[in-house]
Amino acid sequence: MTALPPGSTIGMLGAGQLGRMTALAAARLGYRLHVFSPEGRDSSCGQVCAAVTSADWHDQTALARFAAAVDVVTLEWENVPTDTVAFLAERVPVHPGAGVLAVAQDRLREKSFANAQGLRTAPFRPVRSAADLRAAVADLGTPAILKSTRLGYDGKGQVRIQPDTDLERAWADLCGSSPAGVEGILEGFVTFACEVSVIVARRADGAMVSYPPVENRHKAGILDVTLAPATLDAAVAAEARRVAERLTQALDVVGLLAVEMFVTPDGAVLVNEMAPRPHNSGHWSLDFCETSQFEQLVRAVCGLPLGPTGITEPCAMTNLIGSDVEAWPALMAEPGARLHLYGKGEGRPGRKMGHVTRPLTIPG
Ligand code: AMP
Repeated sequence: MTALPPGSTIGMLGAGQLGRMTALAAARLGYRLHVFSPEGRDSSCGQVCAAVTSADWHDQTALARFAAAVDVVTLEWENVPTDTVAFLAERVPVHPGAGVLAVAQDRLREKSFANAQGLRTAPFRPVRSAADLRAAVADLGTPAILKSTRLGYDGKGQVRIQPDTDLERAWADLCGSSPAGVEGILEGFVTFACEVSVIVARRADGAMVSYPPVENRHKAGILDVTLAPATLDAAVAAEARRVAERLTQALDVVGLLAVEMFVTPDGAVLVNEMAPRPHNSGHWSLDFCETSQFEQLVRAVCGLPLGPTGITEPCAMTNLIGSDVEAWPALMAEPGARLHLYGKGEGRPGRKMGHVTRPLTIPG
């Protein structure tokens, strides 16, 4: 396939830390990154980009100008409006495309899509009212988790349902101040042995590589630590990769797809979520992998040879959330630790400010 040569400009939708780390990887290979986002030059990504367009997602004049200034578009946030992506796609290749986003933006579609591929998920029911919730709880039992179908991340927009939960109240909590049009999903609670994720990279010609499964441990719904590799039986690890590759192919993803999965005590692999972009659980790859996920995204969307995905040394990645970042002087001084800071001003609670990776190999 024809590759976009170094010197080309990659357009990035979204201006957070995932865009920032992609911009740095792109620069290393001689590419420029032009970010489009309602946030400006001082965003995490904007600080390190060759060019910044700061405009609303629906500003067609700005979008058309952006499309004319870049050679390919990718994204670091899957909730970019699909209309915006469709508008750009008429002018410049956009990877991944609007069809992938339509599935990845909606938990109901995501799980239905996985099931349609013969892949397992938690049992689930759509919920559009308190009456639906009562029927779904009667069906699936408790414990269960009520989630909003859209815009949920880091455990936001989720309510745990126990036998004594007031269901009217749970539905009202999910709806918040604007109940009109809220769609929910009730998921049966999965008793898992561990949570894992696999990141897959795919080019437009179908060439594909996947990373080894890693284990993710969450705190208060937010990713806390990733261990690479996950400690899994070889057959379970192979199954996790197969599941992620299957979804990537079936969705026709060009770029990256990160698939989060539950592994049950008997070794079954259930799809939980997918994100068509770099993923927090892939940050370890910057320091302990043959090719980082960010470089891999650049390679995939530019049609370059995909890089090898082997782990160079077992490692742990720990997120620095909110005030955790204040430990930066000690982390910088810690032998073996590699610190990454995202250039965000204020360490508000729940905000991802940076991460640190450490080798797991015991010296001697
Ligand atoms: P999510 O936003 O769907 O990734 O959920 C955040 C975290 O909540 C997951 O990483 C799990 O630790 C937990 N969780 C979500 N859904 C379920 C489920 N159906 N069963 C058990 N735990 C879950």
